[in-house]
Amino acid sequence: MWNRGAENFIGCDTPYDEAKTVIFGAPFDSTASYRPGARFGSRAIRAESYGIETYSPYLDRDLTDIAVFDGGELELCIGDAGIALAQIEDCAEEILREGKRPVMLGGEHLVTLGALRALARRSPDLHIIHFDAHADLRDEYLGAKLSHATVMRRAWELLGDGRIHQFGIRSGERDEFAFAAAHTALRKFGFGGLTETVKALKDKSVYFTFDLDVLDPSIFPGTGTPEAGGVDFSALLAAILTIAPLNIVGLDMVELAPSLDHSGVSTAVACKLLREILLAIG
Ligand code: MN
Ligand code: MN
Repeated sequence: MWNRGAENFIGCDTPYDEAKTVIFGAPFDSTASYRPGARFGSRAIRAESYGIETYSPYLDRDLTDIAVFDGGELELCIGDAGIALAQIEDCAEEILREGKRPVMLGGEHLVTLGALRALARRSPDLHIIHFDAHADLRDEYLGAKLSHATVMRRAWELLGDGRIHQFGIRSGERDEFAFAAAHTALRKFGFGGLTETVKALKDKSVYFTFDLDVLDPSIFPGTGTPEAGGVDFSALLAAILTIAPLNIVGLDMVELAPSLDHSGVSTAVACKLLREILLAIG
């Protein structure tokens, strides 16, 4: 099933059988509500990763010391969200069946739902930690139930009340915030309350879904729906290190649209964050 190109994310060249963590790209952006382009995110992260070091001075760890396989890009049905999600679910299921941890690179945020379906089946105690500018809690978007604007609502249908912990949220309809007040744990604007959340989840299985647009557009302009007032790199890195001790059974990083940032800095930021996440959880 692996569609390996010549490249892997830097330092992540452990053979599949020996790997504990498996990276794969989910190049899908058909439901992007504003500017498309996230389908090229995962490929750009892999290619541009050669601009960063494998060593992290923050953690004093090196990617070459951990066992990560990079499976390349999934071939997804771009025109049909339901089929694409089933393809992602199959991939995540296979990785989990072999006792490995899936790390999915988007793509737009809807791709999370595919991986989540596989994870939720295996981990009945699953909670989600969600970093994003947007609540993503609409029940539908222009008539579509499957959209990156509805992905956390679909996740809630899967997991139920009190399982979704949202941080950095600064955009959504009034109804989404009302829904969150009743059904999820939503923190506006930053990472207030994250330490308490981590304490409460210490015996749970956790899926970490990371929409890169939680960052301020000044550092991360390369995304379909940029939203001013975001967090800076240091705050985000601190938050990632705060959640890293949890039992993170799977994660994703989504919504990089490299063609929307001609400077390339957004992709460079995403590469560095992926390195830190892999090292922090590895
Ligand atoms: Mn999102
Ligand atoms: Mn977002």
